[in-house]
Amino acid sequence: MSAGDNDYELPRGLSQVLHNYTPGEVVNFGQVGVTTQVDSFDNPEELENIDMDRVATILKGRVSRFRNRTTSGKWDNLQASALNVFKPHGVTTELFPLVFYCEDPECRKVHTANSPDRLPSDGNCYACGTDLTQLTFVNVHTCGHIEGPEPDWQDRCSTHDLDDYRLVRTSGGPGTWYYRCRRCGERMGGFSTICEVCGDPMDGPLLPVQTGCSTPRQSSWSTSRSLTKILRTFPAGNPGRGHSRRSTSD
Ligand SMILES: [Zn+2]
Ligand SMILES: [Zn+2]
Ligand SMILES: [Zn+2]
Ligand SMILES: [Zn+2]
Repeated sequence: MSAGDNDYELPRGLSQVLHNYTPGEVVNFGQVGVTTQVDSFDNPEELENIDMDRVATILKGRVSRFRNRTTSGKWDNLQASALNVFKPHGVTTELFPLVFYCEDPECRKVHTANSPDRLPSDGNCYACGTDLTQLTFVNVHTCGHIEGPEPDWQDRCSTHDLDDYRLVRTSGGPGTWYYRCRRCGERMGGFSTICEVCGDPMDGPLLPVQTGCSTPRQSSWSTSRSLTKILRTFPAGNPGRGHSRRSTSD
């Protein structure tokens, strides 16, 4: 997606983009209180005269630390001739995780979506009309897969599946919060999930790193904003797009 009316632009240096905004990375923008996942680099510029043999050797060394069952062969046989090097001129991010809960303690209905435009367009709870808050926790796996805190299918209500459930906020903190069916009250799973790729338990729930300031730091739960406030920051019906332009200070 190119820069346009739906974009929210934040200036970032090139080194910050390469360290904190690589595709797939989850970042929390403290100043706007929103957590997003980097979608893609914009307008990448191909760089010439790079020592590709050296790049391939470094890449193979770094990749060997990761256990990756989906693409391992591809990396073991990495050739310099298969590589191109690009310099990004911006990144596009999407709202992530797409998991929100109702702020009314009597309701607490959880809303999830596959894309931002499937969330309530006014930012309010479908059941009671109260503001929704993003659940900014993620689960990560050594294979590279990342998931939000939504309940896995195996954690569904035995009668009502994942049709209508609420968040139960215990006093033990987010790591002990869990879901309960709103129809029958059956207790469901918590934020920890099973990797969709490998079927193994993931690490989490974790809070994404906050990169809204010059020094990245762990974000705090309290920086989350309600969906109505996010919609006000990301107008024109596309709350999920953030656009971070490279500043000239790289
Ligand atoms: Zn509600
Ligand atoms: Zn139920
Ligand atoms: Zn899962
Ligand atoms: Zn995995």
